[in-house]
Amino acid sequence: MTAGHVIVVGGGASGVILAAHLLRASDRRLRVTLVERRAEIGQGVAYATTEPDHILNTRAGSMSAFADDGEHFWRWLLQSEAADDIRCSDPFCFVPRRHYAAYLADLVKPWRADTGDGRLSVVRGTCTAMRTTPTGVAVEVGGATHIGHCAVLATGHQVPEFAANSPYVDAWTTPEAAGIRPEDAVLILGTGLSMVDTVIQLAGRGHRGSITALSRRGQLPRVHRRNAPLRIDIADMPLGTDISYILRWFRRTAAWATERGGDWRDVVDGVRPHTATLWRSLTPAARSRFLRHARTWWEVHRHRLPPESETRILAAIATGRLDLVAGRFVDLERHGDAIRVTYRRRGSVEVATMSVARVIDCTGILRDPRSNPAGLLSHLIADGLVRPDPLNIGIEVDDDGAVVGRSGASSSRIFAVGPVTRARDWEMTAVPDIRVQCAVLAQRITAALSAPSTS
Ligand SMILES: Cc1cc2nc3c(=O)[nH]c(=O)nc-3n(C[C@H](O)[C@H](O)[C@H](O)COP(=O)(O)OP(=O)(O)OC[C@H]3O[C@@H](n4cnc5c(N)ncnc54)[C@H](O)[C@@H]3O)c2cc1C
Repeated sequence: MTAGHVIVVGGGASGVILAAHLLRASDRRLRVTLVERRAEIGQGVAYATTEPDHILNTRAGSMSAFADDGEHFWRWLLQSEAADDIRCSDPFCFVPRRHYAAYLADLVKPWRADTGDGRLSVVRGTCTAMRTTPTGVAVEVGGATHIGHCAVLATGHQVPEFAANSPYVDAWTTPEAAGIRPEDAVLILGTGLSMVDTVIQLAGRGHRGSITALSRRGQLPRVHRRNAPLRIDIADMPLGTDISYILRWFRRTAAWATERGGDWRDVVDGVRPHTATLWRSLTPAARSRFLRHARTWWEVHRHRLPPESETRILAAIATGRLDLVAGRFVDLERHGDAIRVTYRRRGSVEVATMSVARVIDCTGILRDPRSNPAGLLSHLIADGLVRPDPLNIGIEVDDDGAVVGRSGASSSRIFAVGPVTRARDWEMTAVPDIRVQCAVLAQRITAALSAPSTS
């Protein structure tokens, strides 16, 4: 029998999927509390958007919360109110992200007090502190202390927070909320998926001002196609080699796949089951080189655009509404209402300038876990309960998903899931990876709670 109380901090995709795995795998004596500071659970950074044109960048057939029931989300879609919104007849389908938020909210209904057996409580508020106790954990939310047997950090992405008078605005603020007028010139920093969302949103509102998107290489994410992942054996992976060799291996294997009628997508998707092993086989110096030199290459091939979004972005470029620039942002200065940006085009030593009304930060979601000094992670790091990984892209966790503290010891009470753990496996961003991690952690936690020594 599994009896216990698990407190999950963060009610985005990772927290909700973990809660579902915990509750469906256990008997009635296991309770879960989900702490979320947003008004709704299941949204987080990715799925809070209500824009119909902000669509999933993963096909619906890969977005199930359960790896052992791959079409769970697709079946839900067909039976839900969202069914009228779906313009495709099979799971190779990219649907508005708001439907995924609705799916996640529905997923845990069987256990909510108002719609189910009451084993899941949702606490609205920000968790500001956490400590271990002789019998478990104490979690502080809005002045109240919640006691549990263990806690899971599912705090997700560290989204930048800009002051109202900042020249910068984040990628998730609507143009209206950011005070961007249709005639304003804007600069977008970054040319990845968030830039695509931002341009599509501006275009959808009839934006007339110039839009420039700037990144070091000016590379757009590649587009999804129907493809068949190559079956790659782990023995054939270039484990323990260096980044330049791995890139050569990718190119050679992609050329081989192309000769046989496939393409590079088959290789990228074929490597996916082995990404964590490949990442862990790299030395710390090689991981750091990957982040500096190969990350953009990996991301544009791995995190691909839905065909609909590609059509829109190429049209924006073709009609001159979007100028894609490869170069380096240098600095910005305010001149009254305008912002004067200096930058250097790739390959040029000359500094160029442009005048814009706002700078939209779409540089991505990879941040130092200490980037918000007032945030929970910074507190936990200061208290020695968790520690950042050596690359400062997340926090350290062990093989069981337990956080590693300042002393190097794994916690028996605090665990973590989702992007906050990316330093361990690298690819811990998308749902197909998160759901597997949640299943494993749910098993680990329920086994620990069933053990006779757990009080
Ligand atoms: C724009 C965008 C689009 C994406 N699209 C896809 C896609 O199509 N397919 C795919 O597979 N993946 C996609 N992803 C990847 C996505 O990151 C994951 O699917 C998933 O959203 C990660 O969820 P998360 O819960 O770990 O993080 P988050 O979404 O960041 O959620 C974390 C939650 O924790 C809460 N929180 C944090 N700290 C506290 C605290 N101290 N107290 C209380 N609450 C707290 C936050 O409010 C937030 O709701 C996308 C990502 C982004 C950014």
